[in-house]
Amino acid sequence: MTKRAPELPAYRMQGQSMGRPADYYLVWCEHCRRVHRHSARDGHRTAHFAQAGNAVNPYNATGYRLRYAGTVSCPDDVMLPEERAHRLMVQRRRGMRGR
Ligand SMILES: [Zn+2]
Repeated sequence: MTKRAPELPAYRMQGQSMGRPADYYLVWCEHCRRVHRHSARDGHRTAHFAQAGNAVNPYNATGYRLRYAGTVSCPDDVMLPEERAHRLMVQRRRGMRGR
């Protein structure tokens, strides 16, 4: 039996490819804790985690489905609020060092 692929919110971003404008779908991956980039259309994607070194990532088995959830201007806007808060905290700690 094949496990059903989970549906993830995808955020459209206008970027550049080979000097020409290109649309992307950005999706937050809770397993890699990073943003993945795909071509801008709804539907099923195979997870490409080969470089992530994450053998237990459940998306490897099922892939996932993307559904348009809005437009962003920068990949940071896709980050989950808690991940963003965590990064801000780390940055602040680094900024405090040496005082
Ligand atoms: Zn991932």
